[in-house]
Amino acid sequence: MNMRTVYVNGEYMPEADAKVSIFDRGFLMADGVYEVTSVLDGKLIDFDGHAVRLQRSLDALDMANPISKDDLLEVHRELVRLNGIEEGMIYLQITRGAPEDRDFVFPDPETTPCTVVLFTQNKPGLADNPAAKRGMKVISIDDIRWGRRDIKTVQLLYPSMGKMMAKKAGADDAWMIQDGFVTEGTSNNAYIVKGNKIITRAKSNDILHGITRAAVLRFAQEAQMEVEERNFTIEEAREADEAFITSASTFVMPVVEIDGQPLGDGTPGKVAPRLREIYLDESRKVAI
Ligand code: PMP
Repeated sequence: MNMRTVYVNGEYMPEADAKVSIFDRGFLMADGVYEVTSVLDGKLIDFDGHAVRLQRSLDALDMANPISKDDLLEVHRELVRLNGIEEGMIYLQITRGAPEDRDFVFPDPETTPCTVVLFTQNKPGLADNPAAKRGMKVISIDDIRWGRRDIKTVQLLYPSMGKMMAKKAGADDAWMIQDGFVTEGTSNNAYIVKGNKIITRAKSNDILHGITRAAVLRFAQEAQMEVEERNFTIEEAREADEAFITSASTFVMPVVEIDGQPLGDGTPGKVAPRLREIYLDESRKVAI
């Protein structure tokens, strides 16, 4: 793999030279937030949405934003340019910085500035992913994450374990269940389709407020599809006409199997592939 140029605290440098302190609170306490913005045609998809959610996550954790939106956009674009990204992702992480010692108490932001790291992930063929034609398999697992899943923290151990459980079961991902209802996928929002109706859990502290979710629901309504934001069970999902997920890096991806049971004939239906097409077309038009 080519050596990437990455960004750390105001500087661009080769990835091998990029270093963060062992006292960084992101490393010691998962005290940090992140965003993933996708790149298509060398342009950023929904940068504004990600910048707004980043601010929301920082506010919820009482972290001062160390970088203005304009500067952040500039860094994203510069990394795309320096690394020649046509299709891929930009990963951004901001932590509460590196105090002099490990301590549960938050450090003084005056003396301990946040750590800001950005790097690119080159993914040629991201939009033309063959998995979108095939559809993906999910299993259901208990949702044992903390109660503020609306904050996009780097606390990703359980989602990572969920992906491993899925892999072990021969599936692609896991949908998490709380009190009998699906919350979301390990790294995506979850939907079912019944007739012309798209059903997805309403926004709350229980799920991440997906940037792709917001766009897809808007496009669905513009295309005269009905959207119902409510809880659904995994049993209801197994009986649905279709199911799909959304995220910044997978866009819209059909789900064709749940807990080993095919949905319908086990191939992607009409709604999810159509939404994927609309999402990709419309997002490309306004990418910056
Ligand atoms: N839920 C979770 C738990 C996620 O990790 C993600 C992706 N980071 C999403 C939903 C989808 O959010 P977005 O569309 O903003 O990528």
